[in-house]
Amino acid sequence: MKMRPHHLLCVQKYTGHGYDDAFAAGMDALICRLKARPDTAVTLVEGRDDICAACPHIAGGRCDSEEKVNRLDRGVLEACGFSAGETRSWSVLAREAREQVLEKDTFGKICGCCEWFGLCRNTREGWIDAKDK
Ligand code: SF4
Ligand code: SF4
Repeated sequence: MKMRPHHLLCVQKYTGHGYDDAFAAGMDALICRLKARPDTAVTLVEGRDDICAACPHIAGGRCDSEEKVNRLDRGVLEACGFSAGETRSWSVLAREAREQVLEKDTFGKICGCCEWFGLCRNTREGWIDAKDK
């Protein structure tokens, strides 16, 4: 599975709100897959990933907020010590993103510019906990 680095955060904060029904259905299916198989191999990619594929904001293969989401991606890579192109299991990547970003002030520093931050900040992440501890 391909995933933009900042989507390591979005997936763990997802509560069913999406850009449209097709996007939400894609997220639901992806999360179902990760819940069933936390050992799923995830490759961190630059640019469009499996989540973007169902997003109405993708145009010509690029996100219409590419500059902003690239910043988010760089923030997550830097905070977690990951590199683009790296492949690890979902549970390992998700745990690191949670510990290095979501559970620290780093979360606000990276995500404060996102339109969903108000919602995500008040969402208690945790569905993965039962699977990887
Ligand atoms: S296309 Fe842009 S807004 Fe849509 S999921 Fe991808 S990064 Fe997010
Ligand atoms: S604030 Fe935005 S980028 Fe951060 S986890 Fe939420 S949806 Fe993703």
